[in-house]
Amino acid sequence: MNVKELDATYIAGTYRRFPVEIVRGRGSLAWDENGREYIDMGSGIGVTAFGIADEAWQQAVIAQIGKVQHMSNLYYTEPCARLAQMLCEKTGMAKVFFSNSGAEANECAIKVARKYAADTHGAGRFTIATLQNSFHGRTLTTLAATGQDAFHKLFNPLTPGFVHVAAGDIEALKAAHAATPLAAVMIECVQGEGGVLPLDRDYAQALAAFAREQDILLLVDEVQTGNGRTGALYAYMHYGLAPDVVSTAKGLGGGLPLGATLLSARVQGVLGPGDHGSTFGGNPVACAAALSVLSRIDEPLLAEVRRKSDFLFAALRGESGVESVTGLGLMIGIKTVKPAADVVAACRENGVLCLTAKDKVRLLPALNIPMPVLEKAAAVIKAACAL
Ligand code: PLP
Repeated sequence: MNVKELDATYIAGTYRRFPVEIVRGRGSLAWDENGREYIDMGSGIGVTAFGIADEAWQQAVIAQIGKVQHMSNLYYTEPCARLAQMLCEKTGMAKVFFSNSGAEANECAIKVARKYAADTHGAGRFTIATLQNSFHGRTLTTLAATGQDAFHKLFNPLTPGFVHVAAGDIEALKAAHAATPLAAVMIECVQGEGGVLPLDRDYAQALAAFAREQDILLLVDEVQTGNGRTGALYAYMHYGLAPDVVSTAKGLGGGLPLGATLLSARVQGVLGPGDHGSTFGGNPVACAAALSVLSRIDEPLLAEVRRKSDFLFAALRGESGVESVTGLGLMIGIKTVKPAADVVAACRENGVLCLTAKDKVRLLPALNIPMPVLEKAAAVIKAACAL
């Protein structure tokens, strides 16, 4: 059997895969089993921050694999400690809990919020508000946090203790808190899976101010928006927010599984020994990979992300078959007149790999995609959208 037949026979049918097998890549280029070249405008859904098999990342991973590939969290390891230091120094947060995915990073954020609220306000205050149309993961608790009924209906009963309020409506949040006192509010600054929709800045600031006033923790899900994706290290920095907890994953490990939950000074002591844990969380190879990624997300790189973002917005906005372009940095959603799936298929046939988010074409290229490659991809996407 070839790979597609093996997959169809033996892999659980949870993914609607594109009809392409990627066998190797370099930076923003990828090749299929027939040697056909593609420009990768999805970077593994925002994971390969510096492209596929980038040299510095490879060297960091290989060097660490040759020293120690795993130790339990019962022992100290250097990459984990150094990465936590770098995350805290770059954000002003106080402590980090490492896990393996975005959903787990959010699970930790939720546990911190529940314990903080119980410690501070008593056992009755545990409800967490999230926004309608949000996406926070696929575990039963992060599904409960996700504000989209389509993800809920097959798996009831979900974890209780979540309410979903309309994004942009501060009165809805206040009403939710009046009805059931909130432990926390969790937001994505740009809803990714929800259709690449940035939150309104005034709303985000009003939400943060209300949360602070009422001792409701502000949890920011930076799983997709984090690690330079939006042209700031974390998207909350664009919004002038001071979150209590930040969860991130995806691009942080650059292609190895790594989640991180960043805790502010206010909540740094909430979890004590035995309160939470993970066998693989803080794995030295994943952390060495992340050190290579994070140390390269500096101001010149972020300025490059913003410049490439401006180029893509200008190249696509107002073009034939393009209804709107939304997003922030290199996280872009294109509402097309043609069905998004048809546009993505046409792009693929012309050598460009794109994603969808709801009814939009979604672009999440590597942060360092070379300008000539980006220009070529934009021309193909424009042609695929055109009527
Ligand atoms: N949160 C957000 C905002 C995401 O976009 C995702 C994944 O797309 C997740 C959480 C879940 O991350 P993971 O698939 O790594 O569990």
